Amino acid sequence: MTNLLWLHGGACSGNTMSFLNAEEPTVCDLITDFGMKILWHPSLGMELGVNLQNLLWDCVSGKIPLDILVFEGTVINAPNGTGEWNRFADRPMKNWLSDLSKVANFVVAVGDCATWGGIPAMAPNPSESQGLQFLKRQEGGFLGKDFRAKSGLPVINIPGCPAHPDWITQILVAIATGRISDITLDELHRPQTFFNTFTQTGCTRNVHFAYKASTTEFGQRKGCLFYDLSCRGPLTKSSCNRILWNRVSSKTRAGMPCLGCTEPEFPFFDLKPGTVFKTQTVMGVPKELPPGVKKMDYALLTVVAKDAAPPWAEEDIFTV
Ligand code: SF4
Repeated sequence: MTNLLWLHGGACSGNTMSFLNAEEPTVCDLITDFGMKILWHPSLGMELGVNLQNLLWDCVSGKIPLDILVFEGTVINAPNGTGEWNRFADRPMKNWLSDLSKVANFVVAVGDCATWGGIPAMAPNPSESQGLQFLKRQEGGFLGKDFRAKSGLPVINIPGCPAHPDWITQILVAIATGRISDITLDELHRPQTFFNTFTQTGCTRNVHFAYKASTTEFGQRKGCLFYDLSCRGPLTKSSCNRILWNRVSSKTRAGMPCLGCTEPEFPFFDLKPGTVFKTQTVMGVPKELPPGVKKMDYALLTVVAKDAAPPWAEEDIFTV
């Protein structure tokens, strides 16, 4: 039996919604096939009538062993570091987090808010928000740089806005089956298995990217979204086009630019009007290029690519 406790800080519940949609494995599979006991979750109601405060204190005291602490949402410290803006079970949530993280074998941060602070931590950050072990790209966060759970691992970060459901359940299964040591974390504590390639890997529009065939409208089935609509697929580490959403699609497949939501800087440009969905350029060259690409090389390449593009590069590749 693996005891799991899921707490919810400053958040929209998007990661909970995502989690409930998991397919490989499903949430039910976690319970029936992998022996997971969900002690408490804000939406699942597995233990109706439970005295939540007693349950949490029993976890803190060790009476109930806490194998996995999952946290969704940002850690709210306001006002003035007290955490009183986010009370839960008669205490500031940050106090529960502080106590529970000391007794948990594994701590898992799910979604951008829990990993990096997310949108609530954007300047001027009135809620004094932090991620569990990072504030944006800066290591530290609420638990501090040196935090290690009882297993010896730092907070396992599964970012995304929301995180892909199967990223969450597969990491929980890896823990429950004792295989988490097979999974390497990157410098941002993300499991490499999901975050070692770019969102662009597996995108159906790669041919349009290569020939600089652009689209300027959402929802189109042809054209790359990088040149005009600021797609961050070549700049963002995620497996959204390798492990499809609902097994069938992804943002870019549906004609929506990648927003880079698995990276600590999300939302880029602080959501200033005119910056989202509009590629920022200097003399026709995007301000941000895929890592390792030089501006001069890019400029030369795109001129040649556009001239060399065959007619089918401008076509809808799904038309039969
Ligand atoms: S739509 Fe985005 S992810 Fe797909 S090829 Fe273009 S830039 Fe890359």
